[in-house]
Amino acid sequence: MKELNIKERLAICKECPIYTNDRCNAKLWINPNTDEISTYARTGFIRGCNCIISVKARNLNNHCIAGKW
Ligand code: SF4
Repeated sequence: MKELNIKERLAICKECPIYTNDRCNAKLWINPNTDEISTYARTGFIRGCNCIISVKARNLNNHCIAGKW
């Protein structure tokens, strides 16, 4: 996958269904294949990391838990 810059990463997060108030919402789970969300742990779903996105996206060593960047 092409390495995305900070602006591109932020744009992806802002469109993500588990993005909430600058956080990757740890009260939600996302299916990376379908973008479906869940409020509880389910097979094939990944829990939000609770990271502050404006901070996480700035470090190019960090990656989206759902493989979006
Ligand atoms: S890090 Fe990934 S899963 Fe979390 S809000 Fe951003 S795009 Fe969504």
